[in-house]
Amino acid sequence: MPSARIRPNSEDSVEAVLKLANEHLIPVTTRGGGTATTGTTSPTEGGWVLDVSGWTNCHIDPVARMAFVQPGVTIASLDRAAAEHGLMYPVDPGSHNHATIGGNIATNAGGMRAAKYGVTRDYVVALEGFLPTGEFVRWGANLKKFSAGFNMRDLWVGSEGSLGVITGAVIKLVKRPETRATCLAVFPSAEAALTCSHDLLLAGHSPSALEFLDAETVGCTFSFWKKRDATALDHLPICLRKWSYQPQPPAILLVELDGSEAAAREQLTELELFIKERTSDWMSAMDEETTELLWKIRRSCSQAMFELGSRKLNEDVVVPFDCQLALINYASILQEEYGLPTPTFGHAADGNFHVHIMYDEANKEASAKAQ
Ligand SMILES: Cc1cc2nc3c(=O)[nH]c(=O)nc-3n(C[C@H](O)[C@H](O)[C@H](O)COP(=O)(O)OP(=O)(O)OC[C@H]3O[C@@H](n4cnc5c(N)ncnc54)[C@H](O)[C@@H]3O)c2cc1C
Repeated sequence: MPSARIRPNSEDSVEAVLKLANEHLIPVTTRGGGTATTGTTSPTEGGWVLDVSGWTNCHIDPVARMAFVQPGVTIASLDRAAAEHGLMYPVDPGSHNHATIGGNIATNAGGMRAAKYGVTRDYVVALEGFLPTGEFVRWGANLKKFSAGFNMRDLWVGSEGSLGVITGAVIKLVKRPETRATCLAVFPSAEAALTCSHDLLLAGHSPSALEFLDAETVGCTFSFWKKRDATALDHLPICLRKWSYQPQPPAILLVELDGSEAAAREQLTELELFIKERTSDWMSAMDEETTELLWKIRRSCSQAMFELGSRKLNEDVVVPFDCQLALINYASILQEEYGLPTPTFGHAADGNFHVHIMYDEANKEASAKAQ
């Protein structure tokens, strides 16, 4: 626990707090939405927590396509503000309703759309804040082109609060795509699904999201729904329904495309031709309701993991393209060796997978094995 939680209400107070802490050698841990899963917001050395989540001003310049934000603005609200001007903030971490832009910059957060749009670093135009000594600094400028001097801005992106406190940022926005098209494809094995995602990129498709779910992930999602609602499986997308009654669940690829109505439709037609040659179990949609149905399995899989154990160790692994299947196979080897479930899903377009090691907290042996 910290000895104090400080919610500064002005830049002057951030400066004063940091100077005081520096003078008395008190550790300071900056906190945004507190969604980081690595414990970096825990004040392990005690001291003060500097909570900037209340700083939520956000101003959009639609001509420059930039947002001027305070650190506490959540990702979802930044994107909503951009949408009012036909723009989009494309970085989309799963935590977007609670994670703040300050925290996203400090962790260089990525997300589901990273394959096409990149990560937070690609959108930070300029930053301002305070050094641990309480000195005000500004890195970059709110200009489309700024190439003078050392690039301190990028050093701060991903520095997890260790170099200073971010109190303001200028963020690049992009044109909001008119629509999205989604395709769910079902495969008998991880190998078939990952070969398909590899070939899809090789063929030149540019999905905004390309999500992979292994059979164990899909299986626990089925049992999660079954437990809550006996008829839930009858409402699955038709290409998945038959699989939900079979002993061996399938692996899944979820592909999303975006752009203008015409461009999305054209891309989807090409994608459907491609998918059809690789599996007969697929379904696509451009309307919101069916699209959400196709995303349902992906959205609930994180929570559904708890069907397999009361605790999870969530490893966030990134591998080169040619090692994706090896990673999935390695998770299966771990599972056999330790007897603990290892459901794995993630972003096939950038090789970022979440390998979950599930165990029962009350079981001491399983806990030790998981660690
Ligand atoms: C359900 C869920 C899904 C997630 N999905 C993703 C995902 O898809 N991609 C991804 O990258 N991450 C993901 N995360 C992790 C997390 O959301 C991100 O790391 C996020 O960027 C943290 O933002 P935050 O505002 O919660 O920061 P916090 O957790 O409050 O802080 C994170 C770090 O940033 C520092 N910090 C915070 N604010 C500032 C500031 N103003 N100045 C300086 N340093 C600061 C903190 O000291 C700490 O080191 C997920 C987390 C959850 C719980």
